[in-house]
Amino acid sequence: MNFTELNIIEPILKAIDEAGYTEPTEIQKQSIPIVLEGNDIIGCAQTGTGKTASFAIPILQNLTNKPKKTKGIRTLILTPTRELAVQIDDNFKLYSKNLPIRHLAIFGGVNQKPQISTIKNGIDILIATPGRLLDLIGQGYIKLNQLEILVLDEADRMLDMGFVNDIKKILKLVPEERQTLFFSATMPKPIRKFAHSVLRRPKEVNV
Ligand code: AMP
Repeated sequence: MNFTELNIIEPILKAIDEAGYTEPTEIQKQSIPIVLEGNDIIGCAQTGTGKTASFAIPILQNLTNKPKKTKGIRTLILTPTRELAVQIDDNFKLYSKNLPIRHLAIFGGVNQKPQISTIKNGIDILIATPGRLLDLIGQGYIKLNQLEILVLDEADRMLDMGFVNDIKKILKLVPEERQTLFFSATMPKPIRKFAHSVLRRPKEVNV
């Protein structure tokens, strides 16, 4: 199977080709059709499996196929660390190079001013660590009421790092009518229970 058979649109196919990928990884083969159809997903996958592209590619395609004129943030990706936020942002940069979609990563430990000025110009996709996100929401710079897609990446690590209350606060601020993608390297019972509390009729993917 190749990316064309996954019905990926031309501007993204071109970017994938330029990245030198010849065929989708297992998680990509399984996840991309589910996300493109608008379904919720629980994905059990480690970093290094091509997990990031398995959500970044269909998210970019869904946003492109459903253009919107409002300025609000359309997709939020929550991730536990600055390093992961930067990596995810780099993935979006790569796959969106032929699309008019704007993305930004925000995380703590750095000056918030450049992050705020980019947000003010309008962004479609926000990649964030929970603490800095709540900080900027509290200061009135970020609203999530237009959100269409929410991704919880490395959910097990986020819970291990004590972000559960932050995530619960964020969940209260996003529309109920949304698509939710949940990825975790491990799926012990408490994580599974948590996943089912935020997802609607999810399809499961294990690699
Ligand atoms: P991830 O699991 O998302 O951290 O991805 C691990 C690495 O695999 C990254 O360096 C990606 O750029 C690369 N990658 C993702 N998808 C593919 C693919 N289909 N073919 C080759 N490399 C890929």
